[in-house]
Amino acid sequence: MRVFKFGGASVKNAEAVKNVGKVLETFGGEEVLVVVSAMGKTTNALELLAKAYYNGDSNKNELFKEVKTFHDEIIKGLLHTIDSRTYHDIDNLFIELDCELENTPDKNFDKIYDQIVSYGEIFSSRILSAYLNETGIKNRWMDAQNFISTDDTYREGKVDWESTSMLISKKLKPIVKKQMVVTQGFIGRNKDNFTVTLGREGSDYSAAIFAYGLDAEQVTIWKDVAGVMNADPKKFPDAIKIDAISYPSAIEMAYYGATVIHPKTIQPLQSKQIPLFVKSFLDPQAKGTVVGVKKEEEQLPPTIISKGNQVLLAISSKDFSFIVEDNLSKIFNAFALHKVKINLMQNSAISFIVCVDNEPEKIEKLKENLGSAYTLQVNEGLELLTISNYDEASLNKIIGNKDILIEQKTGKNLQVVI
Ligand code: ASP
Ligand code: MG
Repeated sequence: MRVFKFGGASVKNAEAVKNVGKVLETFGGEEVLVVVSAMGKTTNALELLAKAYYNGDSNKNELFKEVKTFHDEIIKGLLHTIDSRTYHDIDNLFIELDCELENTPDKNFDKIYDQIVSYGEIFSSRILSAYLNETGIKNRWMDAQNFISTDDTYREGKVDWESTSMLISKKLKPIVKKQMVVTQGFIGRNKDNFTVTLGREGSDYSAAIFAYGLDAEQVTIWKDVAGVMNADPKKFPDAIKIDAISYPSAIEMAYYGATVIHPKTIQPLQSKQIPLFVKSFLDPQAKGTVVGVKKEEEQLPPTIISKGNQVLLAISSKDFSFIVEDNLSKIFNAFALHKVKINLMQNSAISFIVCVDNEPEKIEKLKENLGSAYTLQVNEGLELLTISNYDEASLNKIIGNKDILIEQKTGKNLQVVI
């Protein structure tokens, strides 16, 4: 049994959807679960729509139309094969969404966000499933929310692994054994029957959750790149593809900002030793990258992961107390409360320095929270580099004469903020 994940770029227009059909053609009779994300940049568009709805902005209808037109165009591009029932189905979904936007919005924005933004995955999976069926790739559409149970953390749902893996293995597995199934990434459901999303770019994670519950033999993430690269080719033109990488190295890379794989994806797979392939949907026969080799190939090239738009916060106490346990616990509490993720930290007797993503709203809240007892100095516009398998020569080439603001070594990783 295999799990295939297709991201937004793989279904960004009618041509792309047809290409997904070509990739899947060769797996006709096999046990495959297809996990698909929203089409192209739909999630961003729905994000704007959710905000407009919540704030009662006048551009709400316009934003709604934009999303609808985009999907109508794709359906039209596939029309000669899609039957009228699909048209009708998708139209009904849009009517449903439109009605939802007429209601008085709930006070909880994150909850609203999930109810609206999740439509993107429903649209894409409906369209893909119908297209495949029409072209002879028989499959069954299933709602991922029936299998992925989460808590109430809207926009960052925590998976209830026990009930989720039970539902997947008892209810979904028998269906996948009979027929290809098309479902959605990114979404689950809480006990009150509301949709909860798993965090932006969370479809990879969904694929891993399904693979875990199905005890799949392998997972493939189909991308518009050849595989996992040792650096971002846009910044480092001599970047090369990595053929094979261990789970721990891939976790580190994803966690520190390599965007090919969502960071939460790997641990569930590792726990069941399910290999993960990252392959190009433009060249499905090419080898790509396999994640999950036992021992790293000796000659892994230096990997450079760059996370831009970083901020350094230097926190010190106003009452001259040292930054030790009691102060640290107060500071950490504030970070947890406002969901500010720490990318790197360093402390000394009188200050605590953290590197975080530049999310102004969250940082403002953090300042308000800590401001009475602490001084916060903010240094913006920085870059966090996580470098592994490096030697002096490669380091010089990467960092050059840029100012290093903090530097930290853990295991075989070197991290610098420049
Ligand atoms: N559609 C969602 C997003 O863009 C999930 C995903 O693409 O993985 O964040
Ligand atoms: Mg996406």
